[in-house]
Amino acid sequence: MGNNKTMMQYFEWYYPDNCTLWHKVKKEAQNLRNIGVNMVWLPPAYKGAAGIHDVGYGVYDLYDLGEFDQKGTVPTKYGLKDQYLEAIEALHRNDIQVLADVVFNQKMGADETEEVIAQEVDMNDRNIAKTDPYPIIAWTKFNFYGRNNKYSDFKWNWKHFHGVDWDDKGRKNSIFKFYGKEWDKDVDTENGNFDYLMGIDVDLNNVDVAEELERWGKWYLDLCQLDGFRLDAIKHVREGFFQNWIDKMEKSTEKDLFFVGEYWNGDINVLQNYINNCEKNISLFDVPLHYNFFHASNSNGFYDMRTIFDGTLVQTSPENAVTFVDNHDTQYGQALQSEIQEWFKPHAYSLILLREAGLPCVFFGDYYGRNGNEDSTLRGFLTLLMQTRKSYAYGEQVDYFDDEHVIAWVRQGDKEHKDSGLVVIMSNAEGGSKEINVGPNLANCVLRDITGNMSENVYVDKDGNGIFYCGDGSVSIWTK
Ligand code: CA
Repeated sequence: MGNNKTMMQYFEWYYPDNCTLWHKVKKEAQNLRNIGVNMVWLPPAYKGAAGIHDVGYGVYDLYDLGEFDQKGTVPTKYGLKDQYLEAIEALHRNDIQVLADVVFNQKMGADETEEVIAQEVDMNDRNIAKTDPYPIIAWTKFNFYGRNNKYSDFKWNWKHFHGVDWDDKGRKNSIFKFYGKEWDKDVDTENGNFDYLMGIDVDLNNVDVAEELERWGKWYLDLCQLDGFRLDAIKHVREGFFQNWIDKMEKSTEKDLFFVGEYWNGDINVLQNYINNCEKNISLFDVPLHYNFFHASNSNGFYDMRTIFDGTLVQTSPENAVTFVDNHDTQYGQALQSEIQEWFKPHAYSLILLREAGLPCVFFGDYYGRNGNEDSTLRGFLTLLMQTRKSYAYGEQVDYFDDEHVIAWVRQGDKEHKDSGLVVIMSNAEGGSKEINVGPNLANCVLRDITGNMSENVYVDKDGNGIFYCGDGSVSIWTK
């Protein structure tokens, strides 16, 4: 059986550009272990087009982990290569697995231009050409002069891409599809065809590209002893590509690698299809659950809490679900802005951390704070939840989703974890109470609310029955 798994996303969008994150990871590794984190997702570690200001998704050079003087800096936003390796080592010393962020869909910040024949396509339907093919000047040549062929002598040019968003000749912004190239068919259907997202769209059908990314993956795995990958923007990449890449990575190591994909779509059918079509074992972030949290948090108590798991991945495919509350993209001011309101975060985190299904991922911004400020008002509560997950959230789960606003569930505890078992009861409107049977392990016990929201204890009788309660719009968690 073992202990519960908990992931942490170890960055947020507005973390300062001061090259200190890897150092912080190393310093915090032991604390993370203590609170029950056993998997950490680190941000893209390679050099981005915006140098130290690049969060990491504007990929310039996959082989530059903060080692070469490129884009005006040796370190990346997060630090130097050696500091990255030390951070990973510290996590491993504390039995924490490391997931690296893999961004294959786009590149940015090319070194040189070249003339390419291209066609403009409609922004809202990329299947429709707006112009005849004509010559543009595209920034598509990557020579990586600062790296000087170390690790790989592969140079990128327009043939390795589908298209770009800038013609340097006409000084024009548009989506330019290169002549002779087609968008991949099996991608998300938003905007007609969502192969193109931003920057220079990588042509993953190109054999040389596929080989180079495989070579890179093996180099990266071997150098950093990674335990898995978070795959960025997979809805913009043809379905079969990652299956093949995952297969290659699995075959190159003895480790049982973990893969989680970011398929940003709130429609459960789309996510479920992706999983069903993928022969490889891949998890996805539970985007529909995030949106349920978002709607619940914005409904002023009018959300029916019995439906909080409806249409979610954790409900239909729990083995493949990585549950989360917020991330670097849902933050205020970001592309997918949909941050869960503060009052509902304790509810949302309880719903991912204290239940049986799903692998929960705690967001750096919620645990530490934003903009480099260590001022998160949630940190105390999150620490308590994570420790509770680690020590108490075991055994059979029984739901009491029998009221529109006050819902509860029991974890009955197991023999392996001493004193384990708990009751969670929460309301998104007025507080309330429920008679709940906690099962045999917690029968004949006194349970207290570890959140401190409720001060009176609950006495459970010899049959396991007790009356549990919570306050207005809040969560109470009862343990022995
Ligand atoms: Ca693409």
